[in-house]
Amino acid sequence: MSMTQKDKFLEMLTVEDLMISSEKVAHVQLNNPLEHALLVLVKSGYFAVPVLDNSYKLAGSISKTEILDHILGVDRFEVEKLSELTVHEVMDTNIKSIRRDITFIEGLKSIIDDPYVCVVDNEGFFEGILTRRAILKEVKKDYYR
Ligand code: AMP
Repeated sequence: MSMTQKDKFLEMLTVEDLMISSEKVAHVQLNNPLEHALLVLVKSGYFAVPVLDNSYKLAGSISKTEILDHILGVDRFEVEKLSELTVHEVMDTNIKSIRRDITFIEGLKSIIDDPYVCVVDNEGFFEGILTRRAILKEVKKDYYR
């Protein structure tokens, strides 16, 4: 009989068991106007979302804070910049990524400093995200086991 994710002990889990797969992840693309990215972030309620290139490779991450920082002028928000700037001019490219086959504890270490981390394949194609929530749920389950 094969084991479902529910029955697995922490040591048996991999990131693949816990990740949110790409089709369920909100994302934006490199050449989207900043306005579109802000809409996605505000409507979804997420703090940040992944940025993908035209071939669906991971390119970076963009957050509400980065957008607001970029449109902040001397004494006002320069909202016209939302349609002038594109995502690639503002996004954070200095982001970590992980593989789906790493262990639970490696996944946990990878999100200590971030709310989520992207999962990519060997060629950099985006496969999904691992969130702190997913890790913490498993830790809680294990505590009460
Ligand atoms: P959570 O641990 O569920 O609060 O998620 C942490 C962060 O991961 C969120 O603030 C978002 O930046 C990102 N995130 C979670 N779920 C999604 C999703 N379905 N699409 C895009 N980003 C997500």
